[in-house]
Amino acid sequence: MGKVLAIANQKGGVGKTTTSINLAASLAKTRRRVMLIDLDPQGNATMGSGLNKEAQNVTTYEVLLGIQPIESALQRVESEYDLVPANGHLSGAEVELIELDQRERRLRNALDGVRDQYDYILIDCPPALNLLTINALVAADSVMIPMQCEYYALEGLTALLNTIRKIRETLNPRLQIEGLLRTMYDPRNNLDNEVSAQLKQHFGDKLYRTIIPRNIRLAEAPSHGKPVIAYDMQSKGAQAYLALAGEILRREEAA
Ligand code: ATP
Ligand code: MG
Repeated sequence: MGKVLAIANQKGGVGKTTTSINLAASLAKTRRRVMLIDLDPQGNATMGSGLNKEAQNVTTYEVLLGIQPIESALQRVESEYDLVPANGHLSGAEVELIELDQRERRLRNALDGVRDQYDYILIDCPPALNLLTINALVAADSVMIPMQCEYYALEGLTALLNTIRKIRETLNPRLQIEGLLRTMYDPRNNLDNEVSAQLKQHFGDKLYRTIIPRNIRLAEAPSHGKPVIAYDMQSKGAQAYLALAGEILRREEAA
């Protein structure tokens, strides 16, 4: 049965999409069967995977609303994972979902028939604790939280952790916190070091040992529609995401 991992943080620009795309590609490189679901109307994971978001007929929107089955939305991308694309249509879904039955379980239900065909199903969440993110948290086995080591990072985390707790108490008792991932890390920055130490104290084992450095190649790759391992395998960014995939797989084996 595939493990469903929501990549979430309501704070914008912390590296959710970069992590989604590059972790999907890195896990696929180790021959895992991977699905990536773009759950953000911005469609950044779609573009960064090399698809034109405006040219997609079947997207996360149709899947959530039950207009199309998830199988008909899946697109095999060059980096050998299956993508469920998204675009601006998805911004309408929030309002439309409110009217529907099981509005928080739409994604979970949609995944029912395909979960066992994958080893990992990653969900790139939008920067909000809205109904889309709730759908991801209800569908997920666990949450990965990318974060920048900056002063307000911990403060923002409280709202996310509270939401996770509420979902666990109600709609998805099995929801775990997979781990916190330090992104865009600059070891020369004292604040990064300080916040990083605080995170270690607070979260212990839940903090991934792998740290994603600030790396220009990671920022460039999406404009070429590629994960960084397909764009510049030797870059620090590529090596970091491959290491993260390795850490996740090792944890899984140890469990
Ligand atoms: P949003 O909340 O808008 O969905 P996000 O959390 O998905 O944003 P990304 O889109 O992954 O964040 O990253 C924000 C910006 O920072 C992008 O331009 C991305 O290319 C860049 N970026 C992400 N990670 C790194 C990194 N490690 N080094 C350098 N640039 C990065
Ligand atoms: Mg994003």
